Amino acid sequence: MGIVDEDIAKVRESTDIVAIVSGYTQLKRVGQRWSGLCPFHNEKSPSFSVNQSEGLYHCFGCKASGDAITFVREVEHLDFPGAVEWLASKSGIALRYTEKNESEGRQRQARLYGLTEQACEWYHQRLRTAPDAAAARSYLRSRGFDRDEVAHFRIGWAPDDWDALVRSIKGSREDLDAAGLGFVNRRNRMQDFFRGRILFPILDERERVIGFGGRKLPDADGPKYQNSRDNVLYNKSKALYAINWAKADAVAKNQMLVCEGYTDVIGFARAGIAQAVATCGTALTEDHVRILKRFTRNIVLAYDADEAGQSAAERVYAWEQAHDIQFSVVALPPGTDPDELARSDPDALRDAVEHPRPFLQFRVARVLNAADLSAPEGRARAAESALEVIAEHPDALVRDQYVMELADTCRIDATQLRSRLEDVRRHPRPKAEDPTRRRGGLGRETPAEVVPQTAPRLPPLGDGVEREVLRLAVTQPELAAPFLDESFFRHPTARATLDALMRSDTLAQAMEQSPSEVGELLAELAVEVTDLDPGDVLARFASEVGRRELIDLEAEARTAEDPLAYSDVVAWLKVTLDQLRHPRAEVETVTQLLAFLRERHQ
Ligand code: ZN
Repeated sequence: MGIVDEDIAKVRESTDIVAIVSGYTQLKRVGQRWSGLCPFHNEKSPSFSVNQSEGLYHCFGCKASGDAITFVREVEHLDFPGAVEWLASKSGIALRYTEKNESEGRQRQARLYGLTEQACEWYHQRLRTAPDAAAARSYLRSRGFDRDEVAHFRIGWAPDDWDALVRSIKGSREDLDAAGLGFVNRRNRMQDFFRGRILFPILDERERVIGFGGRKLPDADGPKYQNSRDNVLYNKSKALYAINWAKADAVAKNQMLVCEGYTDVIGFARAGIAQAVATCGTALTEDHVRILKRFTRNIVLAYDADEAGQSAAERVYAWEQAHDIQFSVVALPPGTDPDELARSDPDALRDAVEHPRPFLQFRVARVLNAADLSAPEGRARAAESALEVIAEHPDALVRDQYVMELADTCRIDATQLRSRLEDVRRHPRPKAEDPTRRRGGLGRETPAEVVPQTAPRLPPLGDGVEREVLRLAVTQPELAAPFLDESFFRHPTARATLDALMRSDTLAQAMEQSPSEVGELLAELAVEVTDLDPGDVLARFASEVGRRELIDLEAEARTAEDPLAYSDVVAWLKVTLDQLRHPRAEVETVTQLLAFLRERHQ
């Protein structure tokens, strides 16, 4: 028996985190934030900070962080439902539990599915016929979509309008909101949730529309993808795009491919491979695995599972054991994704799908491919790295098979490798010291536990302008939006953080779904206080990107057939950068430079 999700959300919304924390430590207002002595560790000067509007706390001393529910769990030593009940009683909310009111709940659910089905059809007709969908249609054509594919996958268009959908389909405000189709805006008017996006409807295995993935047109503003928010029908950690279309083929072929994007699924279909699904803006979860194993026990990852830190080795092996399934990996040529390969070389794609590699084999091959096996020292080092990967596998017989293969490849005696392997298993390489590991954290799984030992850690982001721009992305997203192009950022941690923000609807979600270094940085950015002027920060950032661009342009000019063709633009850029050196540069100058940079980076 659990607490109804909606009621948990209600508790979150009606809780004032400052009021709650103030019961345990005295908080003082500092600018936009509140600060005080940390209730979780002993300290003399305050390093505990609270962001009231986001409902988050963070301690710069002991790194405790989270939301009001996490806070109450930690401070009152309660479990999750206990903490929710504790908070609910403070705000006088009557909680409902999932076993009650079931029939009423079912009727409502049927009503909501009726609405999402109507919406799906309405969006689809808009895409096919409406004049305002012309740009969407030509974009889809340019990406190789034909009429049949658009019809089969029921692709739609959400017009760039405030309330075109909610005016057109019949449903109460509460229902439209609960189904994730609209929301009540500040003027108490109903507004569409999706605007100006190509929509890929997400259906469950019973063919019911549960949500949408929305992709923006290439030159529109905003994040590339926007998905439905979690609601009564849609839960991103269970949703699998295209499961309804893929399931029959998955059973017939005894294999299911899992990709990361809607267009990858469609790319596979185009190459005649219909047993593919995609996760919707999140890493594969155990709930996904539970759904997939109803259709097949062979799950094939069609993305780089090593790089996607969250579907790391330890979890894969744990799921293989717990659910009696087999994970393997489609080894795609480096730097390609299924969507591209389906267009450029469908035979290669089909071949890769027919011969997936077992998960461990894929990882060992990756280590060996990166090594120099021509010299004895290189072979010894490669064997050492491969043993670390092999050591993670829980089955001794499997490990030994790989040890024998490795002995051959690296020309080392298998007995020696075996004893070395036992050493590695007894003393696993210390997980890189993890100062960023959060206490509690926002998610049920702390990302730090999920990142494999071998995952490269992100270097800390210093105090430069990239950090300041990310802070604006967190605190003043509208202002920062035009500057948030990944290619403008150089630091890998800044890029990863931007990516996390772009993929998430809320800050809490971004923190939950990203590596611990990123989650930590976001927590700091949300609560730190600064008196830098946002306009100055953005101007400085634009000129930094501009200066790099100038160097690139000059290099291009030197090797170009007609260097003179570059002279105008180089001169213009120099003058512009010069103007930006003056304090309080004109906003217009920044805007012009930004427009130029965005064009160059397309
Ligand atoms: Zn602390």
